[in-house]
Amino acid sequence: MRSAGANNVRPVGLDHAAAAAAVADEPAAVTSTRLFTNRVKVYPKKVDGTIRRIKWAVLVFCLAVYYVAPWIRWDRGFGRPGQAILIDMPNRRGYFFWIEIWPQEVYYLAGLMILGAVALFFVTSLFGRLWCGYACPQTVWTDLFIWAERLIEGDRTQRIRLDAQPLSFDKARRKLLKHSIWLAIAAATGGAWIMYFNDAPTVVRDVFTLQASSTVYAFIGLFTATTYLLAGWAREQVCTYMCPWPRFQSAMVDEQTLTVTYRDWRGEPRGKLKQAPSEAKHGDCIDCKACVVVCPTGIDIRDGLQLECIGCGLCIDACDEIMDRVDRPRGLIAFDTYANHEARARGETPRYRLLRPRTMLYVAVLSVGVAVMLTVFAMRTTLEVSVLPDRSPLFVTLHDGSIRNTYTLKIANHLPQQAIYRVAIGGLPGAALSIAGGDAVGGGSEDGVTVAVPADSIGTFRAYVHADRGAAQGGEAKLTFDVFADHGAVAHGASTFHAPASDRPSR
Ligand code: SF4
Ligand code: SF4
Repeated sequence: MRSAGANNVRPVGLDHAAAAAAVADEPAAVTSTRLFTNRVKVYPKKVDGTIRRIKWAVLVFCLAVYYVAPWIRWDRGFGRPGQAILIDMPNRRGYFFWIEIWPQEVYYLAGLMILGAVALFFVTSLFGRLWCGYACPQTVWTDLFIWAERLIEGDRTQRIRLDAQPLSFDKARRKLLKHSIWLAIAAATGGAWIMYFNDAPTVVRDVFTLQASSTVYAFIGLFTATTYLLAGWAREQVCTYMCPWPRFQSAMVDEQTLTVTYRDWRGEPRGKLKQAPSEAKHGDCIDCKACVVVCPTGIDIRDGLQLECIGCGLCIDACDEIMDRVDRPRGLIAFDTYANHEARARGETPRYRLLRPRTMLYVAVLSVGVAVMLTVFAMRTTLEVSVLPDRSPLFVTLHDGSIRNTYTLKIANHLPQQAIYRVAIGGLPGAALSIAGGDAVGGGSEDGVTVAVPADSIGTFRAYVHADRGAAQGGEAKLTFDVFADHGAVAHGASTFHAPASDRPSR
């Protein structure tokens, strides 16, 4: 894979005089030292065809999901968020339909992102840059912006002419209208993003009645500006210069990966249609450049696979249309593997190999990852306990000679209603427990203290454990805080009971 953009970079270096002047800390007369060529603006031409229609369908689907998802309601009961997908920052919760994620469970999100990355590697190894060409937000929004631009300024030729014209009333009117539409789309994009972090109907009403917080307005402004700049102005430069993905995706691609391929064995030597006297002298490419002018990144696929090619396939539609017109078979440009490209050139039957070591490795990693995630999720509990002993002091000797240790006990109630917990000490015979704010319950095996934890929150308690000096033979003993919920869940928090060092056995 080569970079056409890289070919435009001019090597730069100071000449000897300039270098000497720089060393002497004197201003140097720097000669022509431009690091990059200017951007050549791309004016993609409208194209019709199967791939274009698929791209429109994917675009509409992606936009519909993005704009509609925050409006889906989900009943979680009174006083709880009624939005199906919500990241509730003030209450530190993430909601995805029936799933509720706590901050300490952020590893679920990390796991999902890792699985998403492996899935992307897998798809790329099979189908090349499917993500870039069809579903990447940069591609989707750039497509949308170009559609709006074409609506106002016309197709490629009209847009080139308009840009070349001096400023006139008509040009100013069109530009103003175009940028207004761009800004409206960008603002809708930024506004929709905010809805994933706030109740959608509420935040929309607050935004339009100027009652939303300054943070909301700031983020809408930020996402409006980035969408407008990236999709309206930067466009293909994001893919070519800013995005790291094209740089390392070549590690996932091999000769069996589907890529947009120009069948040079069929098209070359290219030549103008009217100059093509016979098939023996001329290939099928009539050098019309239809494939070049529709390309959203402005490259010529006939130069081979390039870093700038996002794999959108629009050049396939353009070329197929030309082939129909000149009465040649379609598929001079097509999705194909390099191995099949070579096989076809030799007149052999193409073969597709989906099962390859790398794809099987990705499937194995994905399967293990999904299995682990599902297992961890299935074992998710509604109750969690953590115990932290006080370090200073480790223990207190009471007036009757007994020892008291103090702990910070945390009980996480993951239920949407208040829960009552009975806490008892295990593993330390004769120990007594008291909890600040807790109610003691007593009697045989029911010994312990009850505490209440409000819905969907973590209760933090000071817990005191009293025991005879003899209970901690050797200066310390293991114990557990056994927590029994009224709804049946049980959890244990392990810790240590400390006694005076003098009680340690002498050696
Ligand atoms: S559209 Fe097809 S025929 Fe025209 S230049 Fe491109 S490859 Fe050649
Ligand atoms: S060369 Fe073809 S597939 Fe690649 S970006 Fe351009 S139009 Fe899309």
